[in-house]
Amino acid sequence: MTEIERAIPLARLTTIGVGGPAKALARPRNVDELVAALRFARDEGLALLPVGLGSNLLVGDDGVDALALRLERDLSAVEVDGDVLRAGGGATNAVCLHRARDAGLGGLEFACAIPGTAGGGVRMNAGAYGRDWSDVLVRALVVGAEGEEWVGVGELDLSYRHSGLPADAVVAAVEYRLVPRPPADIRATVAELVARRKDTQPTNKRTFGSVFKNPEGDTGAGRLVELCGLKGHRIGGAVISPKHANFIENAGGATSADCVALMVEARRRVLDEHGVALEREVVFAGLPELPALS
Ligand SMILES: Cc1cc2nc3c(=O)[nH]c(=O)nc-3n(C[C@H](O)[C@H](O)[C@H](O)COP(=O)(O)OP(=O)(O)OC[C@H]3O[C@@H](n4cnc5c(N)ncnc54)[C@H](O)[C@@H]3O)c2cc1C
Repeated sequence: MTEIERAIPLARLTTIGVGGPAKALARPRNVDELVAALRFARDEGLALLPVGLGSNLLVGDDGVDALALRLERDLSAVEVDGDVLRAGGGATNAVCLHRARDAGLGGLEFACAIPGTAGGGVRMNAGAYGRDWSDVLVRALVVGAEGEEWVGVGELDLSYRHSGLPADAVVAAVEYRLVPRPPADIRATVAELVARRKDTQPTNKRTFGSVFKNPEGDTGAGRLVELCGLKGHRIGGAVISPKHANFIENAGGATSADCVALMVEARRRVLDEHGVALEREVVFAGLPELPALS
């Protein structure tokens, strides 16, 4: 059984750097340890909070009554077998991409600016530049307290920033099917995509990625918030990014409550001024849902 750590501040495990403690934290290194941790949570009556890089996660200031899970060692290892890349759920996208490139396999380039893990990518069906996890994923090893099962991509109900994974399921591993591509071409594509990102998004600030999903229609969530004059708007230590209005930056000393207050205000203004009800993309943990818009 993996060691259970108590009262670990989740601010340290998220890219925005805010949030209170989880009741407990486990760092399982293989599937057996993961199953044991899940049984511990069930026996203790704790919810589960798998945390990848915490790059689309906002944790409440008072923390969360859950067992947080960080997948380590075997559960974050990466190997290539022919045109299949097999990765632990805790493997970072950066490592997967580098291993794929070194093996002359393309297909993951779109993920170069998504600072998450394989498991977080499945849960969110993360994507960029017209591609998402559903384009490369073959199957995922899904683990619950009752055991493990490989689940094919077609059964994961992946759509725009959504998966049908049950809340108490953990992605312990994935298999991506990739395509042969010269490493130099992969490097060139990644360099171009990263440069584009740096021009348009606050990649050097502490954020949790997209605040809201893009609504249907031609105008993205960031543009709608920007049109309301909210770029640079600050509450406490949180600021709507002056570079891209669908990001909230921790400008120093931000709290989760500051971030939520900005989200509430942005949603209200976008509804009043553009008639669009924005839906959040960021995952909340230990936080109530945003107030209904009327
Ligand atoms: C600068 C920046 C740019 C970004 N750009 C993009 C982008 O272009 N496109 C995009 O889609 N996203 C983007 N994001 C958001 C984020 O990187 C993605 O959603 C990413 O897939 C989240 O992965 P993670 O491992 O960090 O998950 P976390 O943020 O840690 O968690 C997100 C959700 O996934 C769950 N989860 C994590 N690991 C597992 C697991 N192993 N099994 C089951 N559930 C799990 C968590 O419980 C939570 O519900 C960006 C974020 C930042 C900070």
